Amino acid sequence: MNAPDKIDAARLELLLSELRLPGIKLIWTALAETADKEGWPAARFLAALAEQEMVERSRRRFERHLEEARLPPGKTLDAFDFDAVPMISKAQVQALAAGDAWLEKGANLLCFGPPGGGKSHLAAALGMALIEKGWRVLFTRTTDLVQKLQIARRDLALEAAIAKLDKYHLLILDDLAYVTKDQAETSVLFELISARYERRSMLITANQPFGEWGKIFPDQAMTLAAIDRLVHHATILEMNVDSYRRKEAVDKARGVGRPPTRATIKGSA
Ligand code: ADP
Ligand code: MG
Repeated sequence: MNAPDKIDAARLELLLSELRLPGIKLIWTALAETADKEGWPAARFLAALAEQEMVERSRRRFERHLEEARLPPGKTLDAFDFDAVPMISKAQVQALAAGDAWLEKGANLLCFGPPGGGKSHLAAALGMALIEKGWRVLFTRTTDLVQKLQIARRDLALEAAIAKLDKYHLLILDDLAYVTKDQAETSVLFELISARYERRSMLITANQPFGEWGKIFPDQAMTLAAIDRLVHHATILEMNVDSYRRKEAVDKARGVGRPPTRATIKGSA
């Protein structure tokens, strides 16, 4: 590069920063070199730059959305063993992972089942898949969110706090049942459910289906109203399986998957 080129390059870098074009900033020198060498028409060079900017932007958007979602790490659909939950259809879960059919209309997904059955894993895995599709998701333990909303209510900012959650197409509330019964605490949950009704989706995991929800909300009328709104447009996945953790531990102890040793053959005879 001769001296005026160097000045152009420095100026271009500044302009690209100012214009917020990180993708082009990353790639322009390499692309310009190729374009010069191969004698690209100017329009082709420009199109290639624009395309790189698009790619880089969507990569950054994905990373931002992944970070804000606070998903527990490592819980993906690929790592989910569907054989362990025969009552759940893999095809149905894959359809849910696309998002369009339910997130667009603010429908809900409810996962019920005993501890260790894979509810949180499946919820996080769906969240991850949806973020890959461009949706925005927040994963939170129900108790944590209730606590935050409760603080907001004390500061007379509950409405604003709930409105702020609107940016998430899907709110994953993990472990609904662990919310303690306390008048002020649990009515914030009701406010949240009402505010999102038919607009923004929720994915709720719980150990018990509705029979026990009277313990979560302050009174029966509110419990019924909350359930009514949640199930109006909802898919319900019942995961009534033994704890995966326990099964894994038992399999390990038994040595399932390993060829039988002389000792085990003798033992079973
Ligand atoms: P729950 O939320 O229903 O109590 P978790 O999702 O926390 O259960 O599952 C407990 C552990 O077992 C987690 O480490 C999870 O990754 C694993 N696990 C549960 N079900 C499955 C499954 N079907 N395939 C793979 N891992 C599973
Ligand atoms: Mg869980």
